[in-house]
Amino acid sequence: MVKEMPDTDTKNIKDLSPGEIEQFVSDNNLQPFRARQISKWVYQRGAACFDEMSDLSKDFRDILRFSFSIGPSLELAQEQISEDGTKKYLFKLADGNQIETVLIPDKSRNTLCISSQVGCALGCTFCLTGTVGKIRNLKPSEILDQYLIVNERNDNNVTNIVFMGMGEPLDNLDNLVKVINILIDPHYIGLSPKRITVSTSGLVPKIKELGEQVSVNLAVSLNAPRDELRDEIMPINKRYPIGELIDASVKFPVPNRKYLMFEYVLLKDVNDSDSDAHTLGRLLKGIKCKINLIPFNEAQPLPYKSPSWDRVLRFQEILISYKINVRIRKSRGSDILGACGQLAASYPSKKTRAVI
Ligand code: SAH
Ligand code: SF4
Repeated sequence: MVKEMPDTDTKNIKDLSPGEIEQFVSDNNLQPFRARQISKWVYQRGAACFDEMSDLSKDFRDILRFSFSIGPSLELAQEQISEDGTKKYLFKLADGNQIETVLIPDKSRNTLCISSQVGCALGCTFCLTGTVGKIRNLKPSEILDQYLIVNERNDNNVTNIVFMGMGEPLDNLDNLVKVINILIDPHYIGLSPKRITVSTSGLVPKIKELGEQVSVNLAVSLNAPRDELRDEIMPINKRYPIGELIDASVKFPVPNRKYLMFEYVLLKDVNDSDSDAHTLGRLLKGIKCKINLIPFNEAQPLPYKSPSWDRVLRFQEILISYKINVRIRKSRGSDILGACGQLAASYPSKKTRAVI
């Protein structure tokens, strides 16, 4: 059997949404159930070539082969395992760019942190990916293959997906929505939307657009409770200030019994004071939400430091006094630069990549 090779000029079948596959089937005058046969082969049986699709006619298999590629859109370049069990995967794309994906095993779940872009345009000053700038959006196949490849290498044990890797998922909204629809469709991958979280730095109009199309968990990277500070560390705030961001976030339709999440990266002597904790408490008091405090993960050449553990606990204590549901997120995989904000694989020659 000839294995189909990835071809950058031909669309990968995984770049098609469920609706687009149905349309393709109908354009070829075939019955709708043929679309489900294709999705089963691609996503559930992991077919490596169209000829494996034995319940489709030879003619239709030929049409599929001439129209699409089916091979993996990513090549696994390296797997690193942290002392805490976190695994970081470096993938090479067909155009030579690189991205990273992180698998975080925990007692009751295995969370895959996937990338949505090569680099990121938003330039948050505490984030290594932001220092790279945006190189390009990932295609749906390149986002999905992160899951498909890592899940297969780990005995199909990935339970949750968070869009918290490289890039701003809402800056790649069309592809993100396509991917989510494939992830949640029972004829495709069939994950519960409750197990999928999209994290955003706050592209306000896109939060609304995402909510009109899908219902998944939303994490908003707040990181500062005052506009002048947020303007400084997250330049997107100058366009969409905190008030507008909170407003759009609380209107987002998270799944039943799930909470809107706010992420707050604690930067020593920048946003970790008692006064900022009180301002944050007042800002979020009464909103049905959870806050994740993330002590800053240091990475060269970022100019920040992580606060002391006492400071982190004090910040949490103040938020609790406002009856806010707050937890401290452990830094996982930092010894392999796999923790939040430490991903920057598209510049493998950088000093920060020396461990890879
Ligand atoms: N662009 C999206 C998703 C990727 S960043 C977003 O900004 O939400 C995922 C999370 O990592 C964000 O909450 C971000 O604030 C956090 N982060 C970025 N750099 C970090 C660092 N150096 N240490 C800890 N968290 C960081
Ligand atoms: Fe981009 Fe998110 Fe990093 Fe900001 S924190 S630069 S939005 S990846």
